[in-house]
Amino acid sequence: MPFIKIRNKKGTANKFPPPGYTSWLDFWEKKKGMGATKCEVMLCAKKPDVGGHVIKVGGGKEEYILPMCYGCNNKPEDEVFKAWDSDLVAVE
Ligand SMILES: [Zn+2]
Repeated sequence: MPFIKIRNKKGTANKFPPPGYTSWLDFWEKKKGMGATKCEVMLCAKKPDVGGHVIKVGGGKEEYILPMCYGCNNKPEDEVFKAWDSDLVAVE
């Protein structure tokens, strides 16, 4: 499957990244071994402001981090959007 449907996971503002990571975007970059160059929400590609918490539509409760712009990160929780599955990094 080339892409997947995801939604924002709210209530994560007080969740800090694991020790050794300065932010969730830093967590994503270190796990991927590459810098985040853009918001990875499909058809967006603005500046990656944050590592946003998302969940897969129809998936379980597992959370993933995705580089996102503020606009995409602030989409309501019930708004479905698309991203490449390979861009998601699971939260430990
Ligand atoms: Zn975006």
